[in-house]
Amino acid sequence: MSECTHNCSSCKANCSTKSKQDFLEPLNAKSNIKHVIGIVSGKGGVGKSMVTSTLATLMQRAGYKVGILDADITGPSIPKAFGIAAGVEGDDDGMIPPESSTGIKIMSVNLLLPDATAPVVWRGPVIAGTVKQFWSGTVWGDLDYLFVDCPPGTGDVPLTVFQSIPLDGIVIVSSPQELVSMIVEKAANMARMMQVDVVGLVENMSYVKCPDCDKKIKIFGESHIEDIARKHGYPLLAQMPIDPSLATLVDAGEIEKMDVNYLDGAVEALKRVRNVK
Ligand code: ADP
Repeated sequence: MSECTHNCSSCKANCSTKSKQDFLEPLNAKSNIKHVIGIVSGKGGVGKSMVTSTLATLMQRAGYKVGILDADITGPSIPKAFGIAAGVEGDDDGMIPPESSTGIKIMSVNLLLPDATAPVVWRGPVIAGTVKQFWSGTVWGDLDYLFVDCPPGTGDVPLTVFQSIPLDGIVIVSSPQELVSMIVEKAANMARMMQVDVVGLVENMSYVKCPDCDKKIKIFGESHIEDIARKHGYPLLAQMPIDPSLATLVDAGEIEKMDVNYLDGAVEALKRVRNVK
């Protein structure tokens, strides 16, 4: 290893004297973002992108300027939910993110690929580099909230997101299966190690409401989310059912037309998040 120059900003060594600040990527010069919120999950398919899309929609509806950075590079589903397929334009300042019908700015690898169905078969460092580019190379302009749809799990790429982007807080999304408690704990431990605040937990797919008698059917069994929330001292922000109307809106690219209030608790918690940068 070469001799230490004490200039951590340009040094690639993973040295114990580096502080959290030394890993942060610079934000694009033409961007001013008040709050950056990561949406994370321990594994794929629990509805992380669904929660990201609905929270962004609700915050935009509440009058905030909102953007979504789709950091789930190998499973990008944000543009589809908002019905956006347009390519990304650029100028000397960087990439200009397309806007949804209500004005949410969105950056996703699917907006850069010539064909949205093309698989992203890239190695970890390239994926991580793309996430950093979305942060520092996108002209986000003025935003009140940028939601980062993080890649699932606690591997290399989620770690890069935690290290390179100054998250003000994270929302952990899970589903009500026994196994999930362990997975939530992994995500919570990672947040603690990376010194990122946990805004709270959202349990998705908690139940289905019978269309005939309104009874709540717990498809995945009894939930343990309240115990997990209590154990870690995190607020339980919402328990969201499997709602076919939401799935239909996502498939039609019309998530902004949703008319349900499952995540109102999460919206209120987000309004209270303080800027830590
Ligand atoms: P993840 O981002 O965790 O991989 P997604 O948000 O893409 O998961 O959700 C996986 C699938 O489940 C998607 O087709 C999505 O539309 C659907 N889905 C997620 N949450 C719900 C819900 N509460 N009600 C109905 N469908 C849902």
